[in-house]
Amino acid sequence: MRSPRRCSRNGCPRQAVATLTYVYNESTAVVGPLAAFAEPHTYDLCEPHARSLTAPRGWDVVRHEGEFEPPPPTTDDLVALAEAVREAARPVTPRPPEDDQNHPSPHTGRRGHLRVIPPNH
Ligand SMILES: [Zn+2]
Repeated sequence: MRSPRRCSRNGCPRQAVATLTYVYNESTAVVGPLAAFAEPHTYDLCEPHARSLTAPRGWDVVRHEGEFEPPPPTTDDLVALAEAVREAARPVTPRPPEDDQNHPSPHTGRRGHLRVIPPNH
C-alpha cells in the first residue's frame, strides 16, 4: 500500500502537488507540476511551500504558473477501485446473524451445523 506523496519540508503534513528541482549547472530552482518519479535533487512540495519558495542567493526560481493539480490516481488506486467495484457487484454477500432471526429463510436449516468463526480466532 503506497502512501500519498507528502511535502518534503520538515514537519509539513500536506500532500505534495509540486516538485522542486535544483538545476545546479544553471543555478536555477524549478518549481513544476509533481514529477512522476523522484529523482536526485528533486523535492516534493505542497502548494503553500511551492508558492512561497525562495531561491538561495544567486539562484533563479522558475515557477510553474497556474494551478497545481493533485496527482492523478495511481495504478494502485485504480486497481483498488476496480476490486471495490467487483466486491460490490457480488450477488451473494454474507448476512449478519440477526438477519436470520428476523427473517427466517429456507437456508437457515441447511447450514444449521455451521458456525461462524471470528476472524481473529
Ligand atoms: Zn509543505
